[in-house]
Amino acid sequence: MQNKIISVTINYCITTMAVPKQKHTKSRRNKRRMHLFAKAPTLTLCPKCKKPVLPHTVCWNCGYYKGVEVIDVLKKLTKKERKKREKEMKPKEKGEDKAKPLTMEELSKK
Ligand SMILES: [Zn+2]
Repeated sequence: MQNKIISVTINYCITTMAVPKQKHTKSRRNKRRMHLFAKAPTLTLCPKCKKPVLPHTVCWNCGYYKGVEVIDVLKKLTKKERKKREKEMKPKEKGEDKAKPLTMEELSKK
């Protein structure tokens, strides 16, 4: 008796497998898959620390946006980490001072 019930339920399960009612078009399939091909975000360089940053966002390395300090990056760091970070940022600032604006002759050469 029980074997009969089991066999009937197995048969029922096999016959009532989910089957798609209609074919999905290529367009619909491709629309579903378009999210699978994720692209790398376009990055710009931070004008202050020269690190790659998302455009129109605050730089998380130095906390600057459009030349204004928005986030105090050094605030949450410990004393040791702060010293290290300040050392990293200093030589790049000196490098910026050395770079002189191009004269008209140099511009014409380029
Ligand atoms: Zn920066």
